[in-house]
Amino acid sequence: MSVFEEILSIYESRGSSAYFGEAVSMTEHALQAAHFAQREEAPAELVVAALLHDIGHLLEPAPADIGDWKIDARHEQVGSRWLAARLRPEVAEAVRLHVPAKRYLCAADSGYLAQLSAASVVTLGLQGGPMSAAELSAFEREPYHHEALRVRRWDDQGKLLGLKTAALRDYRALVEGVLK
Ligand code: FE
Repeated sequence: MSVFEEILSIYESRGSSAYFGEAVSMTEHALQAAHFAQREEAPAELVVAALLHDIGHLLEPAPADIGDWKIDARHEQVGSRWLAARLRPEVAEAVRLHVPAKRYLCAADSGYLAQLSAASVVTLGLQGGPMSAAELSAFEREPYHHEALRVRRWDDQGKLLGLKTAALRDYRALVEGVLK
């Protein structure tokens, strides 16, 4: 099976489940994040990172009800390991850092926390809360931290009920262009 066929089958089997506490499914959320990346004419690696940033949730499903989340499922690490074996490092790194990027923005941008969705505030607690000063500077030394911050903003935008987007299968050429 090609990498793109693997991705299609993962989203076809589990992508219709709800995106924790949001109005959209996992697949809709992925497509919306990619839609906002494309609207900013982001490079292919970042559009694909936006599309696949939550693939870790589908590889190792967490409880459907956010109230049942007792531990951080570390979906960004599960996802980035899967992606690093298949796609260019920019994709995997932006995905690995998209949860730290949220913790970074909560500490570095005073308006950011206020616009997070309720579910995203709940998971923030499980993910370690806003970064400390030492964590902020460590994050800024990550080579792909700018890319991760962009993916994070598209992630946060991709929770709109009924937004019209492309379909997952429309991303074949883009994904195949960022294979390792
Ligand atoms: Fe997300």
